[in-house]
Order: sequence, then C-alpha cells, then structure tokens
Amino acid sequence: MFKKILVSNRGEIALRVLTSLQDHDIRSVVTASDPDLNSAVTRRADEVLHLPGQQALKTYLNIELIIEKAVDLGVDAIHPGYGFLSENHLFAQAAEDAGIAFIGPSAQQMLSYGDKLRARAIANKTDTPIIKGTDEEFSPEELKEAAMEIGFPLLIKASAGGGGRGIRYVSKIEELEQQIEMAKSEAKLAFNDDRIYLEKFIANGRHIEVQIMGTGDGTIYHFGERDCTMQRKNQKLIEESPAPISRQKAKEFYESAINLTSETNYKNAGTVEFLYDPKTEEHYFLEVNARIQVEHPVTEMVTNEDLIWRQLQVAAGEDLDIDQKRIRIKGHAIEARIYAEDPYQNFIPSPGKISRIQHPIGAGVRVDSAIEDGSIVTPFYDSMISKLIVQAQTRDAAIRKMSSTLDKYLVSGVHTTIPYIRKLINSSNFKDNKYHTKYLDTYETHIPKRIIEMARVIAAFTSRGIHTGEEDKEVDQISKWRTSAWPKY
Ligand code: ADP
Ligand code: ADP
Ligand code: MG
Repeated sequence: MFKKILVSNRGEIALRVLTSLQDHDIRSVVTASDPDLNSAVTRRADEVLHLPGQQALKTYLNIELIIEKAVDLGVDAIHPGYGFLSENHLFAQAAEDAGIAFIGPSAQQMLSYGDKLRARAIANKTDTPIIKGTDEEFSPEELKEAAMEIGFPLLIKASAGGGGRGIRYVSKIEELEQQIEMAKSEAKLAFNDDRIYLEKFIANGRHIEVQIMGTGDGTIYHFGERDCTMQRKNQKLIEESPAPISRQKAKEFYESAINLTSETNYKNAGTVEFLYDPKTEEHYFLEVNARIQVEHPVTEMVTNEDLIWRQLQVAAGEDLDIDQKRIRIKGHAIEARIYAEDPYQNFIPSPGKISRIQHPIGAGVRVDSAIEDGSIVTPFYDSMISKLIVQAQTRDAAIRKMSSTLDKYLVSGVHTTIPYIRKLINSSNFKDNKYHTKYLDTYETHIPKRIIEMARVIAAFTSRGIHTGEEDKEVDQISKWRTSAWPKY
C-alpha cells in the first residue's frame, strides 16, 4: 500500500478521502488555494501543498505546479476526487510520467470514456443500448438530415460536455440550425472542443446509474445502482439506492455496465449512467463517469463498503478480496445535496460567511461536509456546502428520516437549499416516485409568486437562510462565476 498520498482537491471530497487515508495510517498531503489555506481540510491533513491564488485555473487545475510539488513532497500516489482534474487524461499521464500512481483509470481509458462520442462508439461495439442519435462528427447539413430521421424533440450534446453542461434542447426543426451554431460556439468556449452530436430526447425518463470497480484485468465488480432522477437543469439534487425497479431489471443494468467497461479492462472506480424509460422498461446508455462520484455515499451506506479504500487498493495492485455475491444492498439510502443558494430567488448563489452550522447526527445519518462555524463559501468554487445522507430499512422510512434530519440542520449566515429539499422530500410526487428528470425544471416555473413570498418569510423566521448583507458586495463576482466557463474535466 502507498505510504504518502496527495489529495488533489478541496472541500468535502478532500475531507472524505483524508478519512480513508487516516483509517489506514497513510500519510496525507492536501492541495489548498489561498481561500482554502485555513480550513477543516488543511487542519486534518498531515501536510499542505499550497497553490497560490484563488481561481481554479491557477490552483486546482494547475497540472504543472501540482505535479512538480508532488514530486518534491515525495508522494507515491495522487487521489483527484471528483471535478477539477479528476477526468483529465493529461493529469493522469503527467502523474504517471513523474512516477506517481494516479488513483483512477488509465489516461487512455479516461480519454475513451470522457469523450461522449467515443463512449457511444464503445457502447455500440459492446451492444449496449444507446439513445437514437448521431455517432460521428457531422457537418451542420448532415446533422439536419440526421435530425429529421431522429425526430423531435432532441438534444444537442457537446462531446466534451459534463456536469449538466453542454446540453441543448431543440423542440422543432426550425430551431435546429441556430441551436447547432450556438452549441458549437458554446462548446468551443467551455471545453475548447466544438464537436457535438444529436440524441433523441427521452421524455419522462429516470436517471439510473451503476457503481462499478474494475481491477484492470477485465474483472468488473458492481455495487448496485443509484437513482438520480431528481435534477435541476440536468444536475443531480437527490440520489438514492436502490432504484425503484425490479431486481430483474436491475440485473440488466449491471450486465450493461459490466459489458461496456470490461471491453477496455476498465481500472478503478467508475459509474455507468443510463436513462430508463419506465413505460417501455428500456434502458439506454448515457455516459461513463471515470472517477469517484459526488453521490458515492449512498452506495457506501447500503453496501457497507469504503469505495475510496477500494480505489486505493486497485491503484496499489492489491487483491480486492471481494465476492460479488456478498455485496448486498441493505435497506435504503437517500442523499440530498445542500447548496448555499437561495431557492426562492431562482437559486442565486449565496456566498458569504457561515456564522453558525450544526450538522445533524444520529443513527443512520451521515454528513459529508468541510463546512464549519466561520467557514466562508467563496464565489470561486462550487456552492455545495454539504451532502446529507440517511439510511433506513425501507424507502418510506428513509424519507421520514431525511425529513426529520433536515429539521435539525441549522445553518446561518447564508441562504441554503434546505427548505426547498425539505419540501421536495415531503411532496407526494417524490414519495410516490411520480417524477422524471425534467420534473423540477417544469415544476419550479409553476410555483405561484405568492407561495414563494410566503416561503421567504418563513425562511427568514427560521435560522435557515438568513442574509448577512455581506454577500451583496460579491454579486458581481457571483454573476461571473455562474456564467464563466467551467473547467474541463
Ligand atoms: P456526479 O456525476 O459526480 O454526480 P455531477 O454530474 O452532478 O456529479 O457533476 C459533475 C461534475 O461537475 C462534478 O465533478 C462536480 O464537481 C461538478 N459540478 C457539479 N455542480 C457544479 C457547480 N454548481 N459548480 C461547479 N462544478 C459543479
Ligand atoms: P453530463 O455529462 O452533463 O452529466 P449526461 O449525458 O450524463 O450529461 O446527461 C445529464 C442529464 O441530462 C441526464 O441525467 C438527464 O437528466 C438529461 N439527459 C441527457 N440525455 C438525455 C436524453 N437523451 N433525453 C432526456 N434527457 C437526457
Ligand atoms: Mg452525467
């Protein structure tokens, strides 16, 4: 096993990886930009690798600097977390070239799955069902022809897209030409890669994904599935395991995920994402996330596995000593992502100082967060402040537990999405599983203004979501943050 590992990330995922390192007596180094220097993360690590500056490009995305310092510090492996450089094949290659193990798939595998057009090609080759669409880089004229054949509505997707970005909805042929143009220039700007493709729009679909772990020799273990249908603008908000599908159907998902990834002798943790059409009971491949995912804790809760430790074992070439039959899903787990955003003002980010935070604790409750009293939510990075995960015997019990646990969650200083999540969790449509991936996007626009106003007043009276006034000064920075191009990973 490795002796000293660099965690090249920040926030809750950095802390999460540190926990597994410390559980196994491995020395830890963590990266920190200027605003992150004094944080729960740097306090917990054995050593800190300072990345001067604030912007992600200069700090957490600075491959050269990170590798150079990692060599100086004598680390023997790097864990990239999620986001930032976690799916950057150049980073994986640079680590390898420097003689440092990269805890993730090989640079080549990352390249194959990170590119959505290439991933579709692997799916085709392995007979994995994919959504009707285009499989090559087409000229705008060819795309138009293909669009007629696919039918409307359809989506234009950036081959290099990710994190819910680079997807455009086209309802009719008249819009196509202009949307293609916009999609291309947007993709060029955001990902420095303007390749796009078309996919039929699956209405009323559910997002279901399979957690896998490959050993690199063609063996792929799976750790069950997660349902991540509850999304805002293609970004996951609530995730759970297991999904509301028959165990027979679940097996089909596992088979597809394993076929697709064993083809390339996939190594380390990954998630194979699918769209599921409950009407036809068909599932279609979406993409592979070649890294640990934000929502991995729901799987950890129901399988009692430490997926980060499994990642380290694979990277170190250790025997996993797993028996697939013994990986069993126990009970039901739900995760809610909690953001410093104002749900009553169109989710505008609410950076500022968290004057007080009391994370809930209890049986079957897990909070993954690096936020503590006095923490500053900066406009430079993701505004997620924590992930609340609960587990109980049944889905109904897990929903009840989530609801009562949210009631105990106290955050003051910034607005949070807690009241919104609480409302959602208690809604009959959530309880009855009557929703699809576009549910929130349609639902939000139907909340009458009066109700929004009322909720604002209520929120102001509880300790959740109180403005400090500080954040107003940062509005300019915030709007930049929202519209600025996300890093490519
Ligand atoms: P996952 O696939 O792990 O569930 P998502 O699909 O929600 O995660 O997001 C993909 C990536 O985009 C993640 O690695 C996450 O770090 C990043 N991301 C998600 N939301 C935001 C955001 N609001 N700002 C910046 N990065 C984000
Ligand atoms: P990303 O890399 O941004 O995560 P994905 O391809 O995984 O992109 O899609 C993100 C989300 O967008 C899905 O979870 C789903 O809600 C929606 N989506 C993607 N493709 C389709 C499709 N063909 N039809 C309907 N919804 C889709
Ligand atoms: Mg995705």
